[in-house]
Amino acid sequence: MADTQATGLRTGAAFLAGLAASERAIFVEGERISNPAAHPAFKGGARSIARLFDFAAAEENREAMTFMSPDTGKPVWRCYQIPRTHADLKAKRIAAEKWAEQTFGLMGRTPDHVSNFFTGFAAKPSVFAASGQQYADNVIAFHRFARENHLYIAYAIVPPQIDRSKPAHQQADPTLYAGVVKETDSGIIISGGQQLASGGVFADYIHVSCIHPLQKGDENYALSVAIPLDAPGLKLYPRRPYALHATGAEDYPLTTRFDETDSFVVFDNVFVPWEHVFAFRDIDLCRDQWWKTPAHLYGNLQAQARYAVKLRFLAGIGKRINEAVGTDASPPHRIAMGELAAYASIVDGMLQAQETMASFDEEGVLWPSKTALYSVMSLQSQINPHVFDIVRELTGSAMITVPSSAGDFDNPEAAADISRYYQSASLPARERIRLMRLAWDFIGSEFANRHHQYEKFYGGAASVVKMNMFRAFDFDRAGALVEAALRLPPLEN
Ligand SMILES: Cc1cc2nc3c(=O)[nH]c(=O)nc-3n(C[C@H](O)[C@H](O)[C@H](O)COP(=O)(O)OP(=O)(O)OC[C@H]3O[C@@H](n4cnc5c(N)ncnc54)[C@H](O)[C@@H]3O)c2cc1C
Repeated sequence: MADTQATGLRTGAAFLAGLAASERAIFVEGERISNPAAHPAFKGGARSIARLFDFAAAEENREAMTFMSPDTGKPVWRCYQIPRTHADLKAKRIAAEKWAEQTFGLMGRTPDHVSNFFTGFAAKPSVFAASGQQYADNVIAFHRFARENHLYIAYAIVPPQIDRSKPAHQQADPTLYAGVVKETDSGIIISGGQQLASGGVFADYIHVSCIHPLQKGDENYALSVAIPLDAPGLKLYPRRPYALHATGAEDYPLTTRFDETDSFVVFDNVFVPWEHVFAFRDIDLCRDQWWKTPAHLYGNLQAQARYAVKLRFLAGIGKRINEAVGTDASPPHRIAMGELAAYASIVDGMLQAQETMASFDEEGVLWPSKTALYSVMSLQSQINPHVFDIVRELTGSAMITVPSSAGDFDNPEAAADISRYYQSASLPARERIRLMRLAWDFIGSEFANRHHQYEKFYGGAASVVKMNMFRAFDFDRAGALVEAALRLPPLEN
């Protein structure tokens, strides 16, 4: 049980109450709504996030999910911890795995994703100070504020796909991409669009910046700011909410619970006070915040912890289907499952290698290994379709040969046939159908397909991540081997 009065940890109920009180502008299927937790499109997702808050607030999870605030001595989320030892980094990884297990790795931008970016920013204020001491002060203060208040932050850091042949400042209208349109004594005003805030409908704040390269002339778009989701003028356009069209939780157990949503964000003259501005009209800082701090590494360590959990779940689903239809002992099935298990283990092993190969910077901050992180991330758009295809290959029609919906059990004639013919060697019909529905929702539904796209693009296009890998890899060491081979002494007769 949560003793939240003593700890100050935020509960799921407090999170949901916060959503109900906030006046956000969400446009969904022709309606404008403000409380996602009260709308059938987002209700299930909101409750899944609420359960994460409760999980972190529960006394039995205190050690795993929290550390002691350096300011108050009270427990605060691990994702806000700057790792200064290998044990710290391991603790952060374990916390990320535990939260990911609550959603089977199906919610990527849970409150431990962008928070970890801010932790990386706050670990290296000198990078922000290069543009002005106030930006370093702001980033430290915001990290502290977010940590002490257990904030859920989303982000939109990719410019819209309008005309990628032209830089931001040469778009047909200067306010197509999110950028500063006015500067005042108290802050700045932003207009334009930015993509694609997963979790944006649920979060407290959104980080708005740009991770795509900017060029001279693009200064108005070289920003890094945090904005509350209910700021006047901020509008969210989520893509199709899959839960709204699902026929119920028995047929779509994952769609109805774990749709984190992805929103295009429109800023219509949104005011941002100076204290929430971390980079302003500075192309170098806008770039350096990602690469000269450990932010990208901390955030994506969480992403890989989630992915490792998801692959474990996939292995479990494949195995359970094989057991249900009596193919578990067949050698071809075991070989294919062995291949799937190999990929799952590589991802898990590289996740841990991020810790063991981590290195300290000159200020004693621990950076997870770039090569361990980017090697998996850069291959993820190849690995992911392959491992899901393994289960598709193995299971034939199993996920398709299910009745039209759980409603068919309400018809006695249909229920009798279903009970007789849809049973399996080890499961009664309803249990077998439940398993196949779960598998289909994970592998083949519209929700599942969004996930395939997510795994390809959540960390940027594979080509971009491969460039990260190119920069991180020790080619000098590789080249030294070639050099040594070229200088081998002549063979003696
Ligand atoms: C489900 C989902 C959730 C997401 N969630 C978030 C989020 O929470 N926050 C957020 O900010 N963003 C999010 N994103 C956006 C994501 O960061 C971008 O999709 C990603 O950065 C790629 O950018 P893009 O979509 O504009 O594709 P593009 O950059 O246009 O890439 C499309 C294709 O073009 C190729 N390409 C583009 N430029 C080059 C080049 N210079 N050289 C070679 N090939 C190139 C790429 O390899 C890729 O195959 C999400 C995306 C998805 C799909």
